[in-house]
Amino acid sequence: MKISVLGSGSEGNSTYLDVCGIPFLIDAGFSAKTLIGRMHNLGLNPSMLKAILVTHEHNDHIRGVGILSRKLNLPIYITPESYRVSASCLGKIAPENLRFIEGEFDIEGVRFIPFNVSHDAVRTIGFRVEGSNGKRMAISTDIGCYTEEILTHFTNVDIMVLEANYNFDMLQSCGYPYYLKQRIHSEQGHLSNEDSGRLICSCYHPNLKKVFLAHVSKNSNTYDLALATVRTELESKGIKLEVEVAYQDTVTELFAI
Ligand SMILES: [Zn+2]
Ligand SMILES: [Zn+2]
Repeated sequence: MKISVLGSGSEGNSTYLDVCGIPFLIDAGFSAKTLIGRMHNLGLNPSMLKAILVTHEHNDHIRGVGILSRKLNLPIYITPESYRVSASCLGKIAPENLRFIEGEFDIEGVRFIPFNVSHDAVRTIGFRVEGSNGKRMAISTDIGCYTEEILTHFTNVDIMVLEANYNFDMLQSCGYPYYLKQRIHSEQGHLSNEDSGRLICSCYHPNLKKVFLAHVSKNSNTYDLALATVRTELESKGIKLEVEVAYQDTVTELFAI
């Protein structure tokens, strides 16, 4: 299993994942040109991709989905609810490349287990991904609050991609209008650094090798603060774990297990 977060934040999100030699994108919230350039920077060949999986219809997750699908003849996996409200933004998708997510599904032997998360889109899902080699990962980058369902899917994985969106004090004092602060803090908004750290501790097991912190806000958080807060939470429980922040404008390392 190989993974790199190609970029993450309110201006775009996309994660490259290769499971047993089968590569995918989870979300494509940048222009096709940007995503192809970032994959080239990692030495990856975009024409090898097998599919794009979509978590929800917000623009920072789907901006490049339609163009990449047309350019690379890529299937899109999306919930019917998300497709209904994003069809015009995605543009024309070849019928054979439009695959609706109704439940768990396989692509070339890779198991994808979608799970619902609370966020202010029509429907938002995260994914647990299982390879035939026994490696597992879970990803969710827009979570208003975490539930038993989310904890279940993040348990017993080798890699996590999880958001650490805001610091509560910075959110309160930043220049956002009141309604936006309420939205971010609400159960349909985003996860704070502290909550992210607690979720990781709740799901920790010795096989967990790596956590990427995603969707870090530029206005109500800093990359250093997200990392420090999560590390403090982990250390308070005696957990030693590799944690890396995903940036908006650059790729993370291509981590392999
Ligand atoms: Zn969103
Ligand atoms: Zn988002």
